[in-house]
Amino acid sequence: MKIGVYPGSFDPFTVGHLDVLKNAAPLFDKLYVAVLYNVSKSASFSVADRVTMIENVIRAEGLDNVVSGTFDGLLVEYARSIGARYIIRGLRATSDFEYEFQIDAINRHLNDGIQTVYFMANPAHSFLSSSNVKEIGSYGGDLHGLVPEYNLNFIRERLARQ
Ligand code: ADP
Repeated sequence: MKIGVYPGSFDPFTVGHLDVLKNAAPLFDKLYVAVLYNVSKSASFSVADRVTMIENVIRAEGLDNVVSGTFDGLLVEYARSIGARYIIRGLRATSDFEYEFQIDAINRHLNDGIQTVYFMANPAHSFLSSSNVKEIGSYGGDLHGLVPEYNLNFIRERLARQ
């Protein structure tokens, strides 16, 4: 069985994340979308809220082979624990590349049996990040087209409370 893991903060999950997920899902028997909860990285959405948004995506998009997950600590350890031999990441700009290049070297050092597969961002969403969404949302700006429609109200409500 070919198992992959798409890890990230997903704080919140955007249509850019969705592009990557839709492209990656058909390549695997099972693909985990795993929320990293990292004490050193402050998140705006709780882990439970981020998982809820991912589960809405899985249901609404009919991604039957995709499941949500959470992890902290080393990604390669999490991947090993779920039997994943492939990590999925998205690349938007050269700055993403620099970062991913370093992380890949470290992950290979830790476990060279796990390969990372990269998807180039959809050009229409190459500017899009969770940080943009939070900034726009916190000022009451229009989030249409930046996050999946079915998560729009959930995200608006959560950001309004902050
Ligand atoms: P992390 O903190 O691990 O980078 P993110 O939630 O910011 O978590 O991103 C998760 C993954 O999705 C990363 O590989 C990132 O490059 C990718 N990604 C984020 N936004 C986009 C986008 N607009 N298009 C394509 N890939 C994206």
